[in-house]
Amino acid sequence: MAKLFLQVCLLHPAREAVARCPECRRCFCRECVVEHDDRLVCAACLRQLAQPKSAARLRLGGVLRVGAAAAGIVIAWVCFYWLGQMLLRTPSSFHEGTVWKKTFLDE
Ligand SMILES: [Zn+2]
Ligand SMILES: [Zn+2]
Repeated sequence: MAKLFLQVCLLHPAREAVARCPECRRCFCRECVVEHDDRLVCAACLRQLAQPKSAARLRLGGVLRVGAAAAGIVIAWVCFYWLGQMLLRTPSSFHEGTVWKKTFLDE
């Protein structure tokens, strides 16, 4: 710790450093460090740690994931509905297997 007091602040060369940022490992004076999660970090690192942009992006990603899941369900429902309609429209002879029997016997 004694060595730390010989260091000066990175931003204020006239002031002696009182803390070292655990993120960038550089020394700063009392005015340049901010308490964050029980640690003293510099302003630049605090900005990176508490970046609202990344949080917003994560939230947007979550929304997109939920939207994609909903879209998938809708697409699956539409596909099955269409398949059901197709089966309803096909003649009953197709289900009874007479279609393939006919073609098979014709050969
Ligand atoms: Zn830092
Ligand atoms: Zn400073």
